[in-house]
Order: sequence, then C-alpha cells, then structure tokens
Amino acid sequence: MSPPDKIREEYTLQGVAASPGVAHGPALLYLQQELEVPAYSVEEEAIEDELARFERAIIQTRVQINAIRNQIAGSLGEAEAQIFDAHLLVLEDRALLDEVLQALKSERKNIEYCYHKTAERYIEFFNSMDDAYLKERVADIRDVSRRLLRNLLGLRRADLSALSENKVLVAEDLTPSDTAELNRNQLLAIATDGGSRTSHAVIMARAIRIPAVVGLREATRSIPEGAEILVDGYDGIVIVNPSERTLFRYGKIASARKRLDKIFQASIKEPSTTKDDMPVRLELNIEGAKDLEQIEAVQYDGVGLLRTENLFLKQHSYPSEAVQFEEYRAVVEGMKGKPVMIRTLDLGGDKQLCDGDSKEDNPFMGYRAIRFCLDHPLVFQAQLRAILRAAAYGPVKIMFPMISGVEEMLRAKAAVEEAKVSLREDKLPFDEGVEIGCMIEIPSAATIADLIARESAFFSIGSNDLIQYLLAVDRVNERVAHLHDPAHPAVIRTLVKIIESGKAAGIPISICGEMAGDPLFASFLVGCGATSLSMSPGVLPEVKFFLRSFTLKAAQDLAKAVAAADDSAAVMNLLQSFHQKHVGKVLASVAEEVEK
Ligand code: PEP
Ligand code: MG
Repeated sequence: MSPPDKIREEYTLQGVAASPGVAHGPALLYLQQELEVPAYSVEEEAIEDELARFERAIIQTRVQINAIRNQIAGSLGEAEAQIFDAHLLVLEDRALLDEVLQALKSERKNIEYCYHKTAERYIEFFNSMDDAYLKERVADIRDVSRRLLRNLLGLRRADLSALSENKVLVAEDLTPSDTAELNRNQLLAIATDGGSRTSHAVIMARAIRIPAVVGLREATRSIPEGAEILVDGYDGIVIVNPSERTLFRYGKIASARKRLDKIFQASIKEPSTTKDDMPVRLELNIEGAKDLEQIEAVQYDGVGLLRTENLFLKQHSYPSEAVQFEEYRAVVEGMKGKPVMIRTLDLGGDKQLCDGDSKEDNPFMGYRAIRFCLDHPLVFQAQLRAILRAAAYGPVKIMFPMISGVEEMLRAKAAVEEAKVSLREDKLPFDEGVEIGCMIEIPSAATIADLIARESAFFSIGSNDLIQYLLAVDRVNERVAHLHDPAHPAVIRTLVKIIESGKAAGIPISICGEMAGDPLFASFLVGCGATSLSMSPGVLPEVKFFLRSFTLKAAQDLAKAVAAADDSAAVMNLLQSFHQKHVGKVLASVAEEVEK
C-alpha cells in the first residue's frame, strides 16, 4: 500500500545553516532513546527464561561488537580496533556475569534490572579511582552495558559507523563522538533538531565537508524514515519531498555555486595578501591527518588549529603516546614544512569521553580543556611528549585551550618542560625550540591579555568560546543560538582589545574560531591587525579571494568604523557594504545566471 499523498507533499523546515552545500536523498532517523530500565519481580519458574534471554542478548551483543571491530580495523586500522577487543572482554567478564546471576537468584528481579544494577556498581567503583587507566574501563563498561541493555530491552539505535547507503542523517542532536564515527563517504547531509553553528559536532561536519542544517527543532518528529529530503546548508532549510521543480531550481543553484567555487579556487595558488601585498596567513582548522587527504597542503599557509580531541572521542578512551605521535607526525609530514599549531586536549563541554560518568550541570564552565589536563598529569604528559616528538619532523607550535590567567599558563608551560626532561632521559628525538602560546577564548584572559602575552609566543583567538562566555550564550543550545552574535559591540570591542595587546607585545595573533572563515568578518579582523586567520578548508578559497580584493588601509578604516558602531545591525551594515563594494560585482554576475 502506498502512503497517503499528503505525506508526499513538499514542505519546508527552517533551521540554521551550519555547513555549506546542498544534497538530497532518503532520510535516516537516528533517535537517542533514554535507557529506562524496568524493575519487576519474576517467579521462581521464570528464572530459566530470564537466563535464556540474557544469553541471547550476550550473543547478539558479541556479534555487534565484532562487526564494528572488523569495520574499524578495515577503515582505521588494527590499533583503533583494539578498543572493541576490550569491549568483548568486558562483555564476557566472569566476575561481573556471576554477580548478575547471583542477583537474579537472590533478588528474583528481571535480568535487565540485575545487570544494570551490577554494572552501575562496577562503574561507580572504577570511577572513584583517580587513575586514567581505570577510568578508561568505566567508558568500556558503560558502552557495553548500554548496548547489552538495549538488546535486552529490544531497543534499536541506528549504527552510525555502519551507515552503508547514501542517506541524509536526521537526528535530535549529534555528539562529537557520533560525528567522529560518521562514514564521510556514505553520508550525504545532516539535519538536526538541536545544535548551533558552533557546536563541535557541527564544526566537525564542516571539516568533513558535509552539508548540515541544525536547530530545526521538529525534524525528527516531522520527517518520516526514508522520506526524500533536500538539505540546503547555505540557507539553513530542509525541504521534505522536494518536487521536480524544487530539484530543478536547486540544480541551477548548485551549478551557480560550482561556478563561484571555480572563481574562488582560481585564487588559491596566489599569495595570501591584501590587494596591496600585505601578507595575512590563511591557515587550516583540521581534526586529524585524514582531513589532509582531500587537499593539496602546499596551497595553504599551515595548520592554524589541529583539534586533538577526535582521536580520544573515536576510541572513547585515552590513546597511547605512540598512537598520538603517529597521528601528529602524519599531519606534520603531510604539511610538508608548513607550520602546524597543535592544540592540547580540549575535552569537556560538548566533547565528553563517555556520557554519564562525569555529568555536570554546566559542562562548558566545568571540567574542561586545560583544567582537565592539569589535573591528569599522565594524560597530559603522554600528549605533550607525542607533540614534541612529532615536532622533530617539521615546524610545530603548541597551544593551550581555555587559559584563564597567567598562573594556568605557567603551569601548562612547566608541564611542557617536564615532558622535555623525560624525553631527554629516554633519548628520544624531539624539537627543543617548539613555540608555546595559548588560545584567548575566556573573558578573563581577554581582559588581561597584556599580562598573558608576556608568557605567550602567540595568541590564537577562539571566537566560538569567547562569544559564548562573553554573551552568556551556550553554544550548543538551539534556543539561544540566535543570540550567539559575533557582531555584538561587546565582542567587537573585546577582539580589538586582545589584538591591540598582542600587537603591543609584538606577538602574532591568529583567529581560529568560525568567525575567521566568515568573509564578512575576515576584513574587519585583518583591519584590526590579525596576522593569521584559520578556518575549515572548504571556506578558505572564498576568504582568500576576498582578502585579495581590498587594501590594508581600507580594512583599517573599516575596523575603526566597526569598533565605533553602536549595535550589531550597524556593524553588519558596515561589513556587508564593504564586502559588496569589493566583490559584489562578481557575486551578482553569478546570481543573475540563476535567475535566468
Ligand atoms: C573556539 O572556541 O573558537 C575554538 C576555535 O575552539 P573550539 O571551537 O574547538 O572550542
Ligand atoms: Mg574553544
């Protein structure tokens, strides 16, 4: 029986444009079900049935884990697949299973209740140990117990890593670990109810160049599984059951976009300078060596931000020094002599290693980034040693995220010295002269940027967090996403102040938040004196094209006017007029073609 016609009518959902591009295909719904574990008594004679159910669920779980293991071994390699060997060990752990059976016999409660209770006790026990290795076990137990409980309860969750056809993913929200699992070759686009432009999962989608629209609120409720949908990542809309006419119109938009991309791409081999030859470094934000596969590294000025969390999120645990070293070395070698700015671990916030064990009410203001690293010397030392060793293969800089004051900066620098001492002792080659700087992304750091500059070889402004903290707008909450406003005069004044402090100290200043890849803001940042803009590879050609269209003096005049503007609307007007004046003609000529 075919579905009623109404279901196939075209309708549009408005969200927030998060990653550029247009794609259409069948929807795959990815729903996160809260695990509610029921508790009920079972009769003596039903105990055998409970045991049989348990055995079936264990076999089913083993088959699933093995399948994921083999898939990861094939795509990422044996080292990454090993985490799933650990999962198999947890699944078959004799002591834990015996305790579950004991509970079943003594308490006569349903098997999922007994399993859940026992697993939670194990988690609590390991969690109370202040030891990175044991904490790793917590993540394993939690992951395995959830999978087993889902199987016992007959709940299904689409397996993202096993996404095997070209589909559009429709989800309530995605965590960064979800995004890390995505198979970039199989996924057409992403549409989510929640999230905002600067949530980490979305930034990662941009890095792998998948069109995305977020903040749709109703997508999972109003889009049926398998429905044909079109995701427009430029305008932030999703069209369900697009008509032939809509597809035709989008076909024209796509070809206009291709023409524009060609125009932008033509400038990529030109030097990164303003029209009057003032150099501005244009660098890449990447998540790992894999991101370099699709680009010709020599065309860029370097990596301005290597986010290192992906490696941790992908394997849901702390990767060894050796695994990290291989990854960082691959990036450094891939950049063929261009500098690579490696940011130390920024876990926490929306990047949790394992959900649940460290739930905080305000994770973005909690146990995150440098706070976590300074508290976990073993984890921090392993990463610092890996970075320093990779630096023996090409120019590397280290930067610390979420620095809030001078003392934190000094402690982080001391940790680098400690890593150097241990590498000398181990007689391992590394670069002694690696430059160390920090991100300015917390208002306190912005306020005392002059003091922090004395301890920093460079600044990199993290505008995503800076805006979040300055305007008190949670970057992953779609209800306040419209308030995340880079044009707010408070943001503008703070940026001017940070850049002035950096200039006064004679250190280079980069911007690596999403603002740097927005052509409208790029001109203002250059006018303020930023020496480098770092952004995802997809937007860099357009920014370079624009950069080459204006003079430094024009950008400086723009920056002065923007800094004096009273409100966001006035700021946006100035930025848009400047953009229009310099590249408007080219953009208009392409737009005219679409209208024809
Ligand atoms: C930022 O905060 O602007 C930034 C670049 O870091 P992240 O987005 O990873 O927090
Ligand atoms: Mg940040």
